[in-house]
Amino acid sequence: MNAPAVEFRAITMRFGDKLALERIDLEIAEGAFVVLLGPSGSGKTTLLNILGGFLAPSEGRVYIDGEDVTAVPPAKRSTTTVFQDYALFPHMSVAGNVAFGLKMRRVDKRERETRATRALEMVGLGGFGTRRIHELSGGQRQRVALARALVVEPAVLLLDEPLGALDLKLRRQMQEELKLIQQRVGTTFVHVTHDQEEAMAIADTIVVMNDGAIEDAGEPERIYLKPASRFSARFMGDNNLFEGTVRKSGDGRVEVETARGMLPAAGDAEPGARVALSLRPEHLHAEAGENRIALGEVEVVEAGFFGTHHQCLAILPGQDEPLRVRLEQKRTVRRGERLELYVDPVDLVLLTR
Ligand code: ATP
Repeated sequence: MNAPAVEFRAITMRFGDKLALERIDLEIAEGAFVVLLGPSGSGKTTLLNILGGFLAPSEGRVYIDGEDVTAVPPAKRSTTTVFQDYALFPHMSVAGNVAFGLKMRRVDKRERETRATRALEMVGLGGFGTRRIHELSGGQRQRVALARALVVEPAVLLLDEPLGALDLKLRRQMQEELKLIQQRVGTTFVHVTHDQEEAMAIADTIVVMNDGAIEDAGEPERIYLKPASRFSARFMGDNNLFEGTVRKSGDGRVEVETARGMLPAAGDAEPGARVALSLRPEHLHAEAGENRIALGEVEVVEAGFFGTHHQCLAILPGQDEPLRVRLEQKRTVRRGERLELYVDPVDLVLLTR
């Protein structure tokens, strides 16, 4: 088997008294599109900078393609970075910007031109080589930065919030393009963002970070449907968390006493353990159905139409924490309306941490 493209082993990073990363172990497979996702201050950029060689870890080792690069400076690593502000040279043409890294590596002029042209075509900017940077839109500049990073054929491309400066529509469009470009070139991408929709749209693997540690890592679908912890459940999209105590356990099933009543879920936990059940808003239903358990009548206190669905907040009598409910497009819902809510036990996810 090939060595992983990237391996972090027991990485700890301190800035004075501040522990920014604590014993991070992570392997990234060759050709993967990995997204480091987490709130501000969780350590994403620090980990990316350690991979790029811009920071030396306080403890631990970093490997790229099986080689220990912990002490190798950025310019000597097989990584390139796309920064949020693009860091393009305004006085150079588009092609000049893209070919810059090749010039630094003393690639001859003819080859520089050929490779810059190819890289620009790859990001959809064929024919833009002679333009100046100020003649480009934000999305086009972003693509130039990407072409400039790809042209040197890095083993790993690092992207630090590369879409952060774009407006939402362009951002969503660029996410699709980024994913397509990554599939086309096959380079390992490590991308930092705090936008969970972006992470789900582009990643093969999402690494959820919280307070300097990895909270959860896996395919977007698994993380969304079966999050490993309360933090991961809350951070990856909307959800309802029912705190409770395990009352019965066995044969891979538990019964949890919650403020919403006794609820079953798959999983193992000791009787008496404090746990939570996670439930996505689209897994609450306003109709009864086979296998569905009734949660009781709720009052809708807020409702909105989001195009693809209706979203509302609804309160069970005697409880203050509203439920987040997502109903299908055709099921119009109004503030003040009363709904009977149901849930299928397979959608209740047991969280023990
Ligand atoms: P953001 O999304 O805001 O960029 P992040 O998840 O990338 O956040 P980091 O920038 O990696 O987080 O920061 C992790 C922690 O380390 C934060 O508490 C931050 O304040 C601290 N930190 C980062 N760089 C330094 C530094 N050079 N000196 C001191 N503390 C730092």
